[in-house]
Amino acid sequence: MTPPDPGLCRLCAFSTPVRSDRGSVFYRCEKSRSDPAFPKYPRLPVLQCPGYVPASAPPPPSR
Ligand code: SF4
Repeated sequence: MTPPDPGLCRLCAFSTPVRSDRGSVFYRCEKSRSDPAFPKYPRLPVLQCPGYVPASAPPPPSR
């Protein structure tokens, strides 16, 4: 079975893939650690996100 498309989280610098015991893959949003506006496990697929940063780009400086 093909896993559902996670959308932006798949390419985001703040996402960490987590595999469950059942083999499902979730994406943990590391931005949720510093900003409660972001859910720890966003509902997928994420199609729009104000925190999205492409993984290939350096993350913005934190203040
Ligand atoms: S910041 Fe947005 S796109 Fe990036 S991991 Fe969190 S929810 Fe997904």
